[in-house]
Amino acid sequence: MDKVAFIGLGAMGYPMAAHLARRFPTLVWNRTFRKALKHQEAFGSRAVPLEEVAEAGVIFTCLPTTKEVAQVAERLLPHLRPGTHWVDATSGDPEESRRLAQRLREKGVVYLDAPVSGGTAGAEKGTLTVMLGGPEEAVERVRPYLAYAKKVVHVGPVGAGHAVKAINNALLAVNLWAAGEGLVALVAQGVSAKKALEVINASSGRSNATENLIPERVLTRAFPKTFALGLLVKDLGIAMRVLEGEKAPSPLLRLTREVYEMAKRELGPEADHVEALKLLERWANAEIR
Ligand code: NDP
Repeated sequence: MDKVAFIGLGAMGYPMAAHLARRFPTLVWNRTFRKALKHQEAFGSRAVPLEEVAEAGVIFTCLPTTKEVAQVAERLLPHLRPGTHWVDATSGDPEESRRLAQRLREKGVVYLDAPVSGGTAGAEKGTLTVMLGGPEEAVERVRPYLAYAKKVVHVGPVGAGHAVKAINNALLAVNLWAAGEGLVALVAQGVSAKKALEVINASSGRSNATENLIPERVLTRAFPKTFALGLLVKDLGIAMRVLEGEKAPSPLLRLTREVYEMAKRELGPEADHVEALKLLERWANAEIR
């Protein structure tokens, strides 16, 4: 088995890299380097300067956007070796990733987009869904290393993984907001949100928002910070570029993006995405409980 490396030990990357470190010799690098040292201490990975990451046969990234991935790639480029595979778990932009793949190809490095779904809980449990974009043989080469995944689907050429991820997150945004609108109205009428969800979750309106996010985070008033609102708005922007690139009809997703842009302006990019429902509660002067 090759040595692997993980770049970007954030809310997702830190636990994902822990699964790698349990199975493979794992190098880690993080911009705020003390997080890499903490990871080394906790999981037996090896915290190294960025250039040393190039020693690995498979390099993982999980950074906010493709922009940061491309910046890191430029810094690493002089050190990269032909035959290296780059697995980008960032929820990135398909078009920018195709450019990055071309740039890395010049050095003989194979890039795959490999965004994940399942949240920080899925990253900790090692039950993430991975959607891969890239050539078939590269997918088979990296598949044994996806130690944090429960489900792996090869969805198409480079960029396809990012496109699927953006549409998935657009659906998350729609479901969450729509459930919030409905529940606020029901609560205002005197129906308990808990009872309403008991019905909805045994009926056709259910979604991850009604089954998990709202019961665990809104009804409890816990609102943990696991997935920043700013990152969801970024994903909605990518989804719009995917739709517009195909000139696909998109009235609902366009509106959804505007709603979350507004939530980001009101609550700030660091708020958790589920906190968007606090806006609805404020407008209706009613709490979802
Ligand atoms: P975080 O903000 O928790 O982590 C971001 C990571 O990127 C940190 O390690 C940060 O380093 C690093 N970073 C930021 N800017 C730079 C830069 N300019 N150069 C180098 N490193 C940088 O984000 P998440 O882990 O939540 O998200 C990462 C990706 O995963 C995003 O694309 C997100 O959309 C996606 N995602 C997130 C999910 C979630 O539930 N949170 C679920 C599925 C996908 P530092 O520690 O120094 O700040």
